[in-house]
Amino acid sequence: MSFECEMLPAEPFSEWMRALVDRYGSAEAAHRCQLNDRQVRRNASGEPTTVGFGFVDRVLTCEGSTFIWELYPQFAPSEDGQPTHAWCKACKEEVPALGDQCGWCDGPLSAVEAVA
Ligand SMILES: [Zn+2]
Repeated sequence: MSFECEMLPAEPFSEWMRALVDRYGSAEAAHRCQLNDRQVRRNASGEPTTVGFGFVDRVLTCEGSTFIWELYPQFAPSEDGQPTHAWCKACKEEVPALGDQCGWCDGPLSAVEAVA
């Protein structure tokens, strides 16, 4: 599974979008996120239950005030600023670790040693 199209629970992102709309109004929020009004209203409504990682990442990058791991702590980089990597036995590769799960196959990583 590709990291980019991973689906995330929408709630932390909708909450963030609502706060942005409260603060700036929907037109300015849309401008800051490089979205249209409809996209802003839809995401702030909490109507979609999931959002794509790539979409959230792009919107947060455009808006610039919030890192994705402030909403989704599983994407927090390790202390040296690099994403955490670990060896996945199933993938037989060094993979991005999402908590104790393999970022590629969702398999458990708890039994393996983090290498980063
Ligand atoms: Zn794996």
